[in-house]
Amino acid sequence: MKKLIAGNWKMNGSQERAGDLLRLIAKGLEADRSVLARCDVAVFPPSLYVAQAVKDVGEYVLVGAQDCSVYGSGAYTGEISAPMIADCGAKYVLVGHSERRQYHGETDEIVAQKAKAAHKAGLVAVICIGETEQERQIGAEQEVVGRQIEQGIPEGTTAQNTVIAYEPVWAIGTGKTATPEDVALMHSFIREKLGERLEDSQEMRILYGGSMKPDNAAQLLATPHVDGGLIGGASLEAESFLAIAKAAP
Ligand code: PEP
Repeated sequence: MKKLIAGNWKMNGSQERAGDLLRLIAKGLEADRSVLARCDVAVFPPSLYVAQAVKDVGEYVLVGAQDCSVYGSGAYTGEISAPMIADCGAKYVLVGHSERRQYHGETDEIVAQKAKAAHKAGLVAVICIGETEQERQIGAEQEVVGRQIEQGIPEGTTAQNTVIAYEPVWAIGTGKTATPEDVALMHSFIREKLGERLEDSQEMRILYGGSMKPDNAAQLLATPHVDGGLIGGASLEAESFLAIAKAAP
């Protein structure tokens, strides 16, 4: 399966910074076409910069938003709908990132509604799942991730309209990475669990996220059932983001 290397910029940057970063990424990919033969590359800028990002790098890099509303339109001040994201030319949207779950109270039910709204708008939903440090310490990681899959994936999900991103919360932005053994175990569990719900589970991309950097990317990306990476911190510099994409086998 072709890997997906996705950069989650979170709430960072400016118009100028976004433009510069995208130009450098596009230039790097243009200079080494073999990267795009091995992996798709996507960026998730803050929503305000999504439309411009599509114009800046449409040809080389796929663009997504970091969140969408469960609603299609209406009196929901401050919200951004999945149809608006699609209208800007973006192809992807993250749903259920652990920061949204933690700081905005998003439950699996809301995550499923957002993924459904994304599917309806023709977007690929990147559904983020993962256990906290405490849950791992008590050995509940599979129970938690299993529940997130059962409850956070809506009817109508297919390998075409959905990507799963396994991101252990304790590894996000901390510099701690799950070991390749732990990642292999969890990703095969996720694949098995998806198989209980979906006919095409074998074709669904399962990304790993959590402190992926140029020096650990090759090993993580070569782990069984790891179909790409969701990268936070290291996606904010073209050099490190491109180095991760180049590490894709
Ligand atoms: C993320 O926020 O999705 C993420 C994986 O962040 P980082 O790479 O910085 O751990």
